[in-house]
Amino acid sequence: MKLSEQIAQMILDNALAWTRYGGNYTAVQKQITEIVDSVLQSPVTDTCEWVYHENEGTYTTSCGERWFFPESTRQENGAVFCPVCGKRIKERGAK
Ligand SMILES: [Zn+2]
Repeated sequence: MKLSEQIAQMILDNALAWTRYGGNYTAVQKQITEIVDSVLQSPVTDTCEWVYHENEGTYTTSCGERWFFPESTRQENGAVFCPVCGKRIKERGAK
Protein backbone atom coordinates (compact mmCIF):
# COMPACT_ATOMS: atom_id res chain seq x y z
CA MET A 1 0.00 0.00 0.00
CA LYS A 2 1.32 3.41 -0.95
CA LEU A 3 1.94 5.99 1.77
CA SER A 4 -0.79 8.25 0.34
CA GLU A 5 -3.26 5.34 0.50
CA GLN A 6 -2.22 4.59 4.09
CA ILE A 7 -2.84 8.22 5.04
CA ALA A 8 -6.21 8.19 3.30
CA GLN A 9 -7.19 5.02 5.17
CA MET A 10 -6.00 6.50 8.46
CA ILE A 11 -8.16 9.60 7.94
CA LEU A 12 -11.21 7.49 7.07
CA ASP A 13 -10.64 5.32 10.16
CA ASN A 14 -10.54 8.47 12.25
CA ALA A 15 -13.75 9.72 10.66
CA LEU A 16 -15.42 6.49 11.78
CA ALA A 17 -14.12 7.03 15.32
CA TRP A 18 -15.55 10.56 15.39
CA THR A 19 -19.06 9.25 14.76
CA ARG A 20 -18.86 7.38 18.06
CA TYR A 21 -18.75 10.78 19.72
CA GLY A 22 -21.86 11.98 17.93
CA GLY A 23 -20.37 13.20 14.65
CA ASN A 24 -22.18 12.88 11.34
CA TYR A 25 -20.17 10.16 9.65
CA THR A 26 -21.61 10.64 6.16
CA ALA A 27 -20.90 14.37 6.15
CA VAL A 28 -17.40 13.89 7.57
CA GLN A 29 -16.64 11.05 5.17
CA LYS A 30 -17.82 13.10 2.18
CA GLN A 31 -15.69 16.06 3.16
CA ILE A 32 -12.60 13.97 3.85
CA THR A 33 -13.00 11.99 0.62
CA GLU A 34 -13.07 15.26 -1.31
CA ILE A 35 -9.91 16.49 0.44
CA VAL A 36 -8.06 13.20 -0.10
CA ASP A 37 -9.12 13.07 -3.75
CA SER A 38 -7.85 16.57 -4.40
CA VAL A 39 -4.52 15.79 -2.70
CA LEU A 40 -4.02 12.51 -4.58
CA GLN A 41 -4.94 14.02 -7.93
CA SER A 42 -3.06 17.29 -7.62
CA PRO A 43 -0.28 17.26 -10.19
CA VAL A 44 3.22 18.29 -9.22
CA THR A 45 3.38 21.33 -11.45
CA ASP A 46 6.32 22.98 -9.80
CA THR A 47 9.33 21.75 -11.74
CA CYS A 48 13.01 22.54 -12.15
CA GLU A 49 14.07 22.27 -15.76
CA TRP A 50 17.39 20.55 -16.36
CA VAL A 51 19.37 20.77 -19.58
CA TYR A 52 22.02 18.14 -20.24
CA HIS A 53 25.33 19.16 -21.81
CA GLU A 54 26.64 16.04 -23.44
CA ASN A 55 30.23 17.20 -24.01
CA GLU A 56 30.72 18.08 -20.33
CA GLY A 57 28.39 15.50 -18.83
CA THR A 58 26.76 18.21 -16.71
CA TYR A 59 23.28 19.62 -16.25
CA THR A 60 22.29 23.23 -15.88
CA THR A 61 19.22 23.72 -13.71
CA SER A 62 16.56 26.39 -14.06
CA CYS A 63 17.20 27.35 -10.42
CA GLY A 64 20.62 28.52 -11.55
CA GLU A 65 23.05 25.72 -10.68
CA ARG A 66 25.21 23.19 -12.45
CA TRP A 67 24.96 19.56 -11.46
CA PHE A 68 26.67 16.37 -12.47
CA PHE A 69 26.60 12.74 -11.47
CA PRO A 70 30.00 11.06 -11.03
CA GLU A 71 28.49 7.80 -12.28
CA SER A 72 26.22 7.69 -15.36
CA THR A 73 23.09 9.79 -15.91
CA ARG A 74 20.35 11.37 -13.83
CA GLN A 75 17.88 8.62 -14.72
CA GLU A 76 20.36 5.88 -13.85
CA ASN A 77 20.95 7.60 -10.50
CA GLY A 78 17.21 7.71 -9.88
CA ALA A 79 17.21 11.47 -9.24
CA VAL A 80 13.62 12.72 -9.39
CA PHE A 81 13.85 15.95 -7.39
CA CYS A 82 16.38 18.76 -7.84
CA PRO A 83 18.92 18.56 -4.99
CA VAL A 84 19.28 22.36 -5.09
CA CYS A 85 15.69 23.68 -5.03
CA GLY A 86 13.74 20.51 -4.20
CA LYS A 87 11.33 20.76 -7.13
CA ARG A 88 10.57 17.85 -9.43
CA ILE A 89 13.12 17.63 -12.23
CA LYS A 90 11.89 18.10 -15.77
CA GLU A 91 14.67 17.29 -18.18
CA ARG A 92 14.49 19.15 -21.43
CA GLY A 93 14.61 16.80 -24.39
CA ALA A 94 14.10 13.71 -22.22
CA LYS A 95 11.40 11.20 -23.09
ZN1 LIG B 1 16.40 23.24 -9.06
